[in-house]
Amino acid sequence: MLGFMQDRPLLISSLIEYSGKNHGDVEIVSRSVEGPLHRTNYRELNLRAKKLAQALGRLGVAMGDRMGTVAWNGYRHMEIYFGVSGMGAVCHTINPRLFPEQIAYIVNHAEDKYIFVDLTFMPLIEALAEQLPNVEGFIVMTDEANMPDSKLDNLLCYETLIGAEDGDYTWPDFDEMTASSLCYTSGTTGNPKGVLYANRSTVLHSFCVCAQDGLGISNRDSILAVVPMFHANAWGLPYAAAMCGAKMVLPGAAMDGASLYELMEAEEVTLSAGVPTIWMMLLGYVKENNLKFTSMNRTVIGGSAAPRSMISAFVEDYGVDVVHAWGMTETSPIGTTGNLLKRHESLSEAEKIDIRVKQGRVVYGVELKITNDDNIELPRDGVAFGDIKVRGPWITNGYFKGEGGDVLDDNGWFSTGDVGTIDPDGYMQITDRSKDVIKSGGEWISSIDVENEAVGCAGIVEAAVIAIPHPKWDERPLVIAVKQEGHSVTREDVLKHLESSLAKWQLPDDVVFVDELPHTATGKLLKTKLREDFKDYVLPTA
Ligand code: ADP
Repeated sequence: MLGFMQDRPLLISSLIEYSGKNHGDVEIVSRSVEGPLHRTNYRELNLRAKKLAQALGRLGVAMGDRMGTVAWNGYRHMEIYFGVSGMGAVCHTINPRLFPEQIAYIVNHAEDKYIFVDLTFMPLIEALAEQLPNVEGFIVMTDEANMPDSKLDNLLCYETLIGAEDGDYTWPDFDEMTASSLCYTSGTTGNPKGVLYANRSTVLHSFCVCAQDGLGISNRDSILAVVPMFHANAWGLPYAAAMCGAKMVLPGAAMDGASLYELMEAEEVTLSAGVPTIWMMLLGYVKENNLKFTSMNRTVIGGSAAPRSMISAFVEDYGVDVVHAWGMTETSPIGTTGNLLKRHESLSEAEKIDIRVKQGRVVYGVELKITNDDNIELPRDGVAFGDIKVRGPWITNGYFKGEGGDVLDDNGWFSTGDVGTIDPDGYMQITDRSKDVIKSGGEWISSIDVENEAVGCAGIVEAAVIAIPHPKWDERPLVIAVKQEGHSVTREDVLKHLESSLAKWQLPDDVVFVDELPHTATGKLLKTKLREDFKDYVLPTA
């Protein structure tokens, strides 16, 4: 017997329609490409997203068509999120930090019909246009006065396009499983693969972002989304903010410490979200200038492991709570969040940080387990570590156009490629990417653990740990570190620092210094490049 409830589809358009009607005055503040701040609100954003849907309909864009974006976090990008998905087309966010040939590959693979472009990225698009024969036109995200002088003849002006519409438009109803957006993983090996989100998965994920033990956002928040909108839909924040009517603060291209701090203070930001690299810069700026955060009370750190020193700086020095979160493009992306439980309230700050260092507990909607090489589930004892597998309504089923083949096991579990432990309280801790783990004499050393400890050493800005072949132990860890400018920290200082926190057999065999470390387009350490650079390196212990 079926229940007797209405079968209304869960559509992305319902989010913006809701906030447009019920949180109409709540602001969306963006730093424009030109520098000044732009202010709009949900009422206006809903109207302009509708005008965009009308304009795209006039251009012949139909349900299922892919519409690329190469853009910073800003209000027009947010209008595109809602306008494109709301009309049943697919918003394909393109990471401009990818290599140009990868961008050409994904645009052609996605078969983007049009591409929305921020002014900053015009040179990139002009250089690539010849390799994108199927793109019908490029919609420049600006007004007529600022249209670039370009050699491309298929340019359209965003403001002119939507200026011709009246916004008298009703969001259409369609199947909630209809594809809504597309995001390619950065692909450290092989070609990038597309993760195709659905309206339903996005709305369900938004409930999780709003839930208190998810990211806990509400109408009382002013959210600074530093995480780019081209990276797993800015962790779902634009959708979730519309669901609860939270104020959005979008930093555009200016991601330096000074610009972010200024926005946080001026816009009374209560919550921010981004990767550790960004927070490292921000904390450096705040410390150097002897500042404090007057409104920000929590920050979400994810994408890479948040080092203990960073968490304790936020919590202890600045009174900002840290929500350490884990996920991936394939998981929409929220998988786990590091909120404390009721019974942790009585713990000391140091003990609380012990918990915050872990990547957190699963939110409702995601199932999570660790397995060994035979796909047997391992105990949740905080010690056994294995492949992390997930399942749930916002976890991918496979990649766009079937790339990479079948990615689920017989019971529907998706293998994340991460290795970790789960403790008896359900807190998961990533020990490594499966391909980065260091296999030494039958034991596994977590490169992430060693990295996190190494950046806690005075004078070290960033550190990467990779496996170097060893005649006796198979592999041993090497630390590749970047020094603070002018600092005299030595190899011996780093090793001495690590002795206090690592077991003897986990201690790296050597430390080398470099000027900078290579990163992927999503800001993670690019270990494939480091392994290549250090392939002939011989350890002093070998
Ligand atoms: P990419 O395109 O680089 O794969 P993703 O954002 O999809 O970008 O990367 C997901 C991966 O990032 C995860 O599988 C995990 O290895 C890593 N990751 C994400 N969050 C954390 C975290 N809090 N701690 C450690 N690793 C993390």
